[in-house]
Order: sequence, then structure tokens, then C-alpha cells
Amino acid sequence: MKNKVILLVLDGMGYHYARRLMGNLEGWVESGEAKIWRGQCVLPSVSGPCYASIHTGLTPQQHGVTTNYHQGKLECADLFSAVRAAGGTTAAIAHSFFSDYFQASPFNHLRDMEVDDKSRPIQHARIYTMAGENKAQPATPSEIDLYWQMSLLIERHQPDYFLFHSCIFDSVGHHYGFDSIEIDKNAYIVDGALSNFIPRWRAAGYDVIVTADHGQTARGHHGGTEDLVRDVPIYYFGDAEGPAADTLIKQTAIAPSILQRLGVAIPASMTEAPVWA
Ligand SMILES: [Zn+2]
Repeated sequence: MKNKVILLVLDGMGYHYARRLMGNLEGWVESGEAKIWRGQCVLPSVSGPCYASIHTGLTPQQHGVTTNYHQGKLECADLFSAVRAAGGTTAAIAHSFFSDYFQASPFNHLRDMEVDDKSRPIQHARIYTMAGENKAQPATPSEIDLYWQMSLLIERHQPDYFLFHSCIFDSVGHHYGFDSIEIDKNAYIVDGALSNFIPRWRAAGYDVIVTADHGQTARGHHGGTEDLVRDVPIYYFGDAEGPAADTLIKQTAIAPSILQRLGVAIPASMTEAPVWA
């Protein structure tokens, strides 16, 4: 592989709140060590459809995941399958929807929750389900524990492509609204943790991309078309040149852009031009 890439999907952390709340990420933008573009998520601005679009470069109308009730492995090419076809190593720490779409369906806890198997699409997977999630217990694993778990998998396996997905913002936003002290406090924790881990992952040789599947409104909802839910941040830590700062990047451009960075052949189904050379 030409480069190694980590993609962090912070579920629900849209562009507008990210720019207000993520002081360390923004500090790196200000100092020139990171770049940020405004991304635009697909419609509907719903988690499952966006996860599938980020990984296939297709719209929900094309890949068929139009709600969070979809079940079934997708048949189109995706980031994991393309990296595997090129002989690369794949890893993910993510919600079980990702396992269902890209690993095996239906999700089977004993087979799929913890995977270290070179023959599977996601060779090193640590999956959570958030079963029993409620307002008193959001059931999102500790973000910092997950960052350590990712660091450990990187040390053991040096995956070429690593997907990290966490649900803390989306879950807390649904319960308290995004314009809430609960979101503020969690943003402070996650942003602070990223200030320690991003340099560690960069030192391990990775480009690091931080984005979201969709945003949320102040009331704590998403699904439709307004800018608060559609605009997502695309922070980039790496050596590639990107497009002009005011370029709006479609969510369907993320998959081919990551493959280009990895040096992996882009499947014909991914038709958006890569944004990172
Ligand atoms: Zn989501």
C-alpha cells in the first residue's frame, strides 16, 4: 500500500457543531497541521444509509440502504473489499451495522463481535451493538477505551485501512438535543482525547480523517435536508494535497479518495473523483 489511512466517523457530529466545539481539531486547522472541508452527506441523513455511502461511494438510492432497518450484506464494492482485493489489511471498531453491511449478515455475536481472521472482509474487527441503550445508560463504549483498543490493534496488525466509528455524540444528542451541556462536555472529552491519540496514530504512519455520518439539529434529530444535519466536517491530517478550502466534498467521494490515498484501484462503481492526490 502507498499509505495507511484511519477514518474516524464521529456519529452525529455535524460540521457546524464540530467547528464550534472541537477546540483541538480547530487549533490544528488554525496552525496549518490539519485541513478541513465541508462535506455533504447523502439523503436521507440517517446513520445506516450514510455508513453505506461512506464505504461504497454510492447513494442510498443506488446501494439500497435507505433506513436503519436494513439488514443484509451489500453486494456492491466497498472500501474493505477493495483493500482486501489489493492484498491490504483491514480493521474496524464500529457499530454492528457496519459488520452486517460489509462483513456478514445477519450479525452473529459469537462469530462477528471479535474477529481476527485474514480470510474475512474486515480482518480485525471489534464490534459493539449498544443493546439496551437508554437515556440513563447510552450504552456507547468509552471513547477513550476504544482509542486504546484501536492503538492496540494498530500495534499488533498495522492495518492499511482502519475504520473507527463511535456513537457517543449521536446517542447523547438524541436524548438531550445537540445544543446541550451534555454534548458540550462530551465534545470536550473526545476532542481532548483526540489531541493525544491523533499524534500517536500519525507517528505510526497513518493519514487520519475525522468526519461524521450526518449532523443533528439543536432538538436532537436528523434525517432531512437542512444544513445542520447534512453538513459534515472532513478534517484531514496527512501529507496529501486537497482541493480548495471552500470546496464542498460529497460523502460519496470519501471512499474513492481513501482508496486513492492507499494506492488501491478504485472500483468502477465509485464514480466521484478522489479529492486527495
Ligand atoms: Zn448516525
